[in-house]
Amino acid sequence: MYLYNSATHKKELFTTHTPGRVEMYTCGPTVYHFAHIGNLRSYIMEDALEKYLRYEGYDVNRVMNITDVGHLSGDSDAGEDKMLMGARREHKSVMEIAQFYTDAFFDDCRKLNIKTPDTVQPATGLIPEFIAMVQGLLDKGYAYLAGGNVYFDTSKLTRYHIFFDHDEEDLQVGVREGVEEDTNKRNKNDFVLWFTKSKFEDQALKWDSPWGVGYPGWHIECSAISLKYNGEYLDLHCGGIDNAFPHHTNEIAQSESYLGHPWCPQWFHVHHLNTDSGKMSKSKGEFLTVSLLEEKGYDPLAYRFFCLQSHYRKALVFSWENLDNAAGAYRKLIARIAALKPDDGPVDGAVLEAARQKFIKAVGNDLNTSLGVTAVYDALKADANDATRLAIIGDYDRVLSLSLLEKAAQKREDDARLSAGASTSAGITVTGEGDPAIDALVLKRAEAKKARNFAEADRIRDELRAQGVELTDTPTGVVWKRV
Ligand code: AMP
Ligand code: ZN
Repeated sequence: MYLYNSATHKKELFTTHTPGRVEMYTCGPTVYHFAHIGNLRSYIMEDALEKYLRYEGYDVNRVMNITDVGHLSGDSDAGEDKMLMGARREHKSVMEIAQFYTDAFFDDCRKLNIKTPDTVQPATGLIPEFIAMVQGLLDKGYAYLAGGNVYFDTSKLTRYHIFFDHDEEDLQVGVREGVEEDTNKRNKNDFVLWFTKSKFEDQALKWDSPWGVGYPGWHIECSAISLKYNGEYLDLHCGGIDNAFPHHTNEIAQSESYLGHPWCPQWFHVHHLNTDSGKMSKSKGEFLTVSLLEEKGYDPLAYRFFCLQSHYRKALVFSWENLDNAAGAYRKLIARIAALKPDDGPVDGAVLEAARQKFIKAVGNDLNTSLGVTAVYDALKADANDATRLAIIGDYDRVLSLSLLEKAAQKREDDARLSAGASTSAGITVTGEGDPAIDALVLKRAEAKKARNFAEADRIRDELRAQGVELTDTPTGVVWKRV
């Protein structure tokens, strides 16, 4: 595939260290609150990327961390411990908070058809490995002790700051305003690998280390976790665009200095989901979650559909109106797939293979998921029988993960049950365009008429008319259509 690489600022042919195998790492969530749908945009697009690589035939080993260490809000010794903030807010222990929000994150992922990575590693489970890496950096002269903390010495690097092609605004995300400069640092960009002395006395979780009791800095977990589960050569590193600087820059600094060779050549960054008032943020209080979408009656997969319709390298603006449009289109798409007949003959292998090639050409061009969705509409009109069309759609859905065939099958079943129920329950047959809610109303009107409750029957007819539905009474039942 061709993939935009934020390390080189170019779209490039995707390559791997070991042919056929992708070592992939994703920065996981900080589990002090629910994930907002902006975070989940990143995970949806990373999931689509993993599935696309598998679709092309790669064997993918995907690793993700869970940030359950109480990180400060930035690199400096300032700000609040986010985990402790969560614990205080909910009168729970930090570990309870971490477990609760980790479970909540994977619940959200399940609802959005996001596959769980092969390895998921909470940071608190790998402290000895972090300590070993920090020690290695000290031994090699890339780190120094100052004021009780261990710092990475960026002056020892020949290259730093490689992700220069993103917006100023995104760069600012990792840097807190009004933060005092840490006077222990030798260079402005130096960052903490291990804290023992912090202005922040309340740190909830601490571990023994060669430098005293303390806790890891912000970046070391991703370098050490990837090294353990992906090995020394990582092929593809993913995260939201705000992770690019300083988090990913510092991961590269640590990993390459520790290993003594280049580490990860390909970097994938998902741009933000914004609202009218700007970037969505967990620490801003009110934010949008998958549960909130569900409470408002949206299918979480309509949100996945919404995300897939736009390119991961463009900021996406969320509004209820935009989501409504996506939800409506998704519902209609399912209805069109449900109208295909699954058993109308054998699948045409040649047509299926040609469709596969078309999909690879479209989506394999920098993960163009919106063209992937368009390909589903094309498949509905493919010059083939319905069984082949369904096979193509099922094949594409290995990447899109919109449960297209499952939902269509469910709709066929619901429709069949409803119309069977309609004709037997009142001796009336309702024939329409396959919308169970409308069928039910039409049936209710027919029953009212039969019971000579004409006022109620007329009321329902008016209600249906307001929805653009026209009824025709026939000797065998009622037929409805949208006008
Ligand atoms: P966090 O849980 O804050 O560590 O973030 C989890 C992931 O979501 C990271 O990869 C972030 O870069 C990403 N992220 C944060 N905010 C947004 C947003 N508004 N839109 C898309 N991705 C985001
Ligand atoms: Zn990370």
